[in-house]
Amino acid sequence: MNLFNQNNTYNYELEKLCRIFLPFEKIIFTEQPTESDVYAHTRLTKSDSRTQLYSFLKFYTQTAEFVDFVENDAEDYYKECERVLAIQLFKCFVAVTGYVSPWGILTGVRPAKLYSALCKKGGKNYARSFFKEKFLVSDKKIELCEKTYEREGEITSQSEKDSFSLYVSIPFCPTRCSYCSFVSHSVEMAKKLIPEYLEKLIDEIVITAQIARTNNLKLRSVYIGGGTPTTLSAEQLERLMKVISENFDIEGKEYTVEAGRPDTITEEKLRVIKENGATRISINPQTMNDEVLNVIGRKHTSDDTVNAFLLARKLGFDNINMDLIAGLPSDTFESFCGTVERVTALKPDSVTVHSLALKRASNLNSENIPRFESGVTASKMVDFAYDFLSQHGITPYYMYRQSKTVGNNENVGYATAFKESFYNVYIMDETHTILACGASAVTKLRQPGGSYIERIFNYKYPYEYINNFNEILSRKDRITAFYDEYRI
Ligand code: SF4
Repeated sequence: MNLFNQNNTYNYELEKLCRIFLPFEKIIFTEQPTESDVYAHTRLTKSDSRTQLYSFLKFYTQTAEFVDFVENDAEDYYKECERVLAIQLFKCFVAVTGYVSPWGILTGVRPAKLYSALCKKGGKNYARSFFKEKFLVSDKKIELCEKTYEREGEITSQSEKDSFSLYVSIPFCPTRCSYCSFVSHSVEMAKKLIPEYLEKLIDEIVITAQIARTNNLKLRSVYIGGGTPTTLSAEQLERLMKVISENFDIEGKEYTVEAGRPDTITEEKLRVIKENGATRISINPQTMNDEVLNVIGRKHTSDDTVNAFLLARKLGFDNINMDLIAGLPSDTFESFCGTVERVTALKPDSVTVHSLALKRASNLNSENIPRFESGVTASKMVDFAYDFLSQHGITPYYMYRQSKTVGNNENVGYATAFKESFYNVYIMDETHTILACGASAVTKLRQPGGSYIERIFNYKYPYEYINNFNEILSRKDRITAFYDEYRI
């Protein structure tokens, strides 16, 4: 797609707007009108008292255009012009594709946070009409924002100035899912690194605990995620979890292990997880349609998921989450509904519904890349999940959005009462510091009593993590320096 923004500097925002409709298209900025199959032109023309805003879109054989005016003395003139051009382009896309994105022109990651800020500024009605009229957000998504922001608020209010959560990364999986951009291509090669990786990880955890003690930080929650942590053997898991319980005060704290793929779950591993302090696990079917599982490269069946879930219940896990994905290749609306119904029948404590995000590094090639039809279907899927789960007492409590999702939808955590994942809320809301260990982990330092955030990145891949371990440890010095600087 060619995009010509004339007399304005809104490239960043208008590109994001186009990505709502064309998430996988290369967008080229041009310095003059340069026609292509998909071509947009925006123009800002300022006269004495007002500014004319113009947008034009050519989409293969169809075209659409809009003209509006903004007074030159309008409040927040620069932002207002940007918003109006975004609305114009949005309407152009709707006119030629017929697809009305439910989030309107909102492209941010945390709509509930923005909604909450508007509520604080002018109350609920103000926030509601702002979302509806200024951003063209649908009523259903506004309702979702309201529900999540209220429930998130109850959780974040329990965090204190010296709170932190611990994240531990196990970036290994038995095989690679076709839509994954996270783990390295050579899963088999990577697995050979597990023993060495674990040694380094344990060292990092011990040092991180010392740093937490030095800074008088109080643990709130623990999350072992991945990848698939249950790729580790039962012995490896036990060693890892013992190091965590010996070095951190996990007593009475939320402690999640993302068991993840059912093909890695065994009774022995579940026992280890339970006996070593985990209070919550996640068993992630993604879909209960075996054909779709095959298409996305997951080597387990829906029955494996059911068996893993029932086994976990038998062993006493009373807080089990299940992850689903809307918009998977080859999945249909009917099949997705079947997935939601079958998962709900198991009575999980929480369900997280992700919208498929297609990243460049995934194995899905351009032929698999969904276009509008799949976007419309994915939107119907997430709406169905919202309605069905809510009817069954599994209601939304946190939400975030990612770029390049099929249908420009959101990811929503649903939970029954008192079974929310606090960690998920803390990380998304950036409520408090997250001390993170392992490859691809990112420590986020939050200023106590303030809003400044600083990040410390670990190396992404296990081999990089192992080879640069001393560098990773030296970066951790910044944690104490940060608290010295910002402690109240
Ligand atoms: S389980 Fe998750 S991290 Fe592992 S390959 Fe699949 S999508 Fe990637």
